[in-house]
Amino acid sequence: MAKQRGTALEPEEKRKLNKQNLSKLNQIFQFLIPYKGAFTSGLVFLLFSSLTLLSFPFVAGKLIDTAQGEVWIFSDLHHIALLLLGILALQSVFSFFRVWLFALVSEKAMRDIRIAVYGRLVRLPIPFFDQRRTGELLSRITSDVGLLQDTFSTTLAELFRQVVTLVAGVAFLLINTPKLTVFMLATFPVLVLFALVFGKFIRKLSKKTQDELAAANVIVEETLQSITTVKSFVGEGYEVNRYSKGLDKVVRVALSAAKYRGAFISFIIFALFGGIVGVMWYGANLVASGEMSVGELVSFVLYTTFIGGSIAGLGDIYSQLQKAIGSSERVVELLKEEEEVEQGIVLHDCKGSIDFKGVTFNYPTRPEAEVLQGVSFQIQPGEKIALVGPSGAGKSTLIQLLLRFYEVTTGQIQIDGKPISHWSLASLRSRIGIVPQEVLLFGGSIRDNIGYAKPGATEEEIIGAAKKANAWQFIAQFPEGLDTLVGERGIKLSGGQRQRVAIARAILKDPAILVLDEATSSLDAESEALVQEALNELMKGRTTLIIAHRLATIRKVDRIYVLTEGKIAEQGTHQELVQDAAGVYANLVRLQFAD
Ligand code: ATP
Repeated sequence: MAKQRGTALEPEEKRKLNKQNLSKLNQIFQFLIPYKGAFTSGLVFLLFSSLTLLSFPFVAGKLIDTAQGEVWIFSDLHHIALLLLGILALQSVFSFFRVWLFALVSEKAMRDIRIAVYGRLVRLPIPFFDQRRTGELLSRITSDVGLLQDTFSTTLAELFRQVVTLVAGVAFLLINTPKLTVFMLATFPVLVLFALVFGKFIRKLSKKTQDELAAANVIVEETLQSITTVKSFVGEGYEVNRYSKGLDKVVRVALSAAKYRGAFISFIIFALFGGIVGVMWYGANLVASGEMSVGELVSFVLYTTFIGGSIAGLGDIYSQLQKAIGSSERVVELLKEEEEVEQGIVLHDCKGSIDFKGVTFNYPTRPEAEVLQGVSFQIQPGEKIALVGPSGAGKSTLIQLLLRFYEVTTGQIQIDGKPISHWSLASLRSRIGIVPQEVLLFGGSIRDNIGYAKPGATEEEIIGAAKKANAWQFIAQFPEGLDTLVGERGIKLSGGQRQRVAIARAILKDPAILVLDEATSSLDAESEALVQEALNELMKGRTTLIIAHRLATIRKVDRIYVLTEGKIAEQGTHQELVQDAAGVYANLVRLQFAD
């Protein structure tokens, strides 16, 4: 199976912690620079809280020794207990501030990263999106940045804390109780490392369960997405059966993993506590021979658990850092992609003349297929032309090139007598209005959807555009009028209504050049008439290109271009083209009106 790029990392996709890879994480560190004050304070609090906590076992040991008559700076047990409480309280305050400060830094830095990634993403050229899957790009902003967030808010802090605990703890023990420490170091870390390796194996197994579950979830997702199809084929029973088979597999895999997990947990309890028993046994012997006090033994055991915990913690941190490097690599890679170039002269007073001069084109993803093969035609300002031809002939491609979504391979496209690359991209696109075939509305109100064409448009302008687009009749009927929510969370507009919203949007944009991608599915007669009337209003005084599927609607255009296999096969008015009975157009007309 082809490996999906950019989704959750497979374990083998973890990166090694070498210098080169760490420098990748470094690029992400740049985003922390604005918050370096808070980050450093967080580190200081972390150091304080770790050190305070480390003094706890020592004082606890002294409590016991004092009970046995030894003299320390405090001879009163109550005072020592209070001191212990004081240590705990102090470390709680430090911990609070370190958690808060790290959260502050990571939340803000991740917001900056997400904005940077998203800002870059939407400015990338269309060919980039042809080569990537939406899910993959989405996962960079969601899971990859999420993983980095965990790294910056907890993993780095944990790394620091565990290292401090380990180094300070071992150093303290080596100075105070060298014999027992050497014994402990020879046994305990070995057990912990063994547990880590076994733990990794268990995690692999549970990942398998997760994968099976994800596969079963796909069934649910697919079914819900096309619930109407499922129902129309009476496929409910079949789907439930498919899902239940998927779940049976999950249970099988999960149960086999559970056997190993059971063994692992029993092992952990036995081995780790066994280790503690060993250390205590050796320690008790030292106490019996008078080489060590009881309090020292107690504090020793407490330190040992601290140290064991931090060795185990470091293992997790290591694998977390490896994943973080993979994520930062993908995020940085995206941040380095080239944006669309925004240079050129602003196209102010667009007249609307269009000139295609010997345009050939191949899509970057399919270099072998020449989609357009030397297309030339001219449109004067205000003319209405139609592009017709069989599916796949290259009609939409012409429009994509006009909008500079792609660059022509050879030839040139001119607007107002200058190559389109002469004009600034934003101003070029602002002068071209599109009413697409399938109108997708954004989740939001109808007002937002119409106003999208002109940020800051007044109420009057929006209503005016809706009226001209024949959309006001139905919008005014909704109790909430323009504020009616549409899209996934709102009401569902009919095809004809959606088209009229798109027309209102185009009217508000007031473009010099208009592209109408005619809907393939026909509307009912009344809707059709309303949409057509709105379109006629919209076309007034604008250069218009109609991608026509239904030939009845284009009888009155100035010229029709018949496109077949990337070439203009015929051109002329409807009247002229039907004359040539053997022509492609006349044939298309016969086909459409035959039934
Ligand atoms: P229709 O009437 O079905 O919309 P069309 O005439 O508009 O067809 P185009 O969409 O321009 O045809 O497609 C022309 C050719 O280019 C087709 O062979 C199509 O498969 C190919 N094509 C379209 N878009 C892309 C793309 N993004 N990447 C690669 N090939 C593409």
